[in-house]
Amino acid sequence: MNLQPLPRRPVRRPDELLSSWIIRLAKANHCSVVELCGYLGLGRDQPPETHQELASADIARFCAIARLSPDELNDMVLVRQHDFPIECISYENFQQCPTCTNTDPGLALRHWRLAWSMECEACGSELLPVWKTSEDDVQISAALSRRAHLGARRLKFAYCHLNRRLSRRVGLAADVLGVMAPQFKRYALFSHSRVQRYSTLASLYLGTTRPFLFAAIALRNDWSAVTRLGAAYPHRKKMLERLVGLAEMPPAQKMKKKDVLSSGAFGCRFPTSSNPVFLSAAKDAIEQLGEGADPRELLLLADEVIKRRRLAPVDIS
Ligand SMILES: [Zn+2]
Repeated sequence: MNLQPLPRRPVRRPDELLSSWIIRLAKANHCSVVELCGYLGLGRDQPPETHQELASADIARFCAIARLSPDELNDMVLVRQHDFPIECISYENFQQCPTCTNTDPGLALRHWRLAWSMECEACGSELLPVWKTSEDDVQISAALSRRAHLGARRLKFAYCHLNRRLSRRVGLAADVLGVMAPQFKRYALFSHSRVQRYSTLASLYLGTTRPFLFAAIALRNDWSAVTRLGAAYPHRKKMLERLVGLAEMPPAQKMKKKDVLSSGAFGCRFPTSSNPVFLSAAKDAIEQLGEGADPRELLLLADEVIKRRRLAPVDIS
């Protein structure tokens, strides 16, 4: 095949999206993206981004003109897991790295599209929304940021390792979140509002690790969700009653944290003694949720920590 390569060829950045490179290629060669897609034999007017979108392309022609190997081309497209319960790869550039785009305007890397990406893998800068929103100046608290990063890590693990059990939990948490807090739809994972995106990731973390607590907290904020939950899960009547019971408990904020930890309230076995096991569990809970957390959440988490440790295998050697 005797095809004339393009005269100008911008250097590809590691992990650059094929669409990003083709747009930069068109700009460098002073032609439109549509014209270039036609010349490259892509069989469409817009640059492809996934393997499926490459199906109509003349790969041999494209690789010859762009001077790319099929393996290099493979490294520039997105791979979607269609059997995962929620979409984790955005269909548009919703966030970007201010440092990298300052050096290469218009640049888009593949991992910027992923729901769990929060820092640029090329330079380590925090990824920021492409479009500014009214919430841009709102400060993300350290506790919310920590929980959002935990949620992101959990989501990445479930998606990349195709962990079925965790995938089911992610799907269920997203369903419950959609029922209880309709403002956090699944696309909130790609929201241009950092607060909404961080809150969704943090909710996924809580929803997959402590689903009952997550639902009770959400219920306290919006009691009308009881009706929606009843309609969505009619066969879970007893669980819904337990959930309402937990959410109806009197405000714990009136009690001091140490009083709550020693009160034995909420059915949690949490003695007043200074047993190192209980003190250690309380410390873990405060570290995870932050000192300003609701004492009731602290108590429940500490109780879970103790239960987990009791179930953990003991080294008797
Ligand atoms: Zn960067």
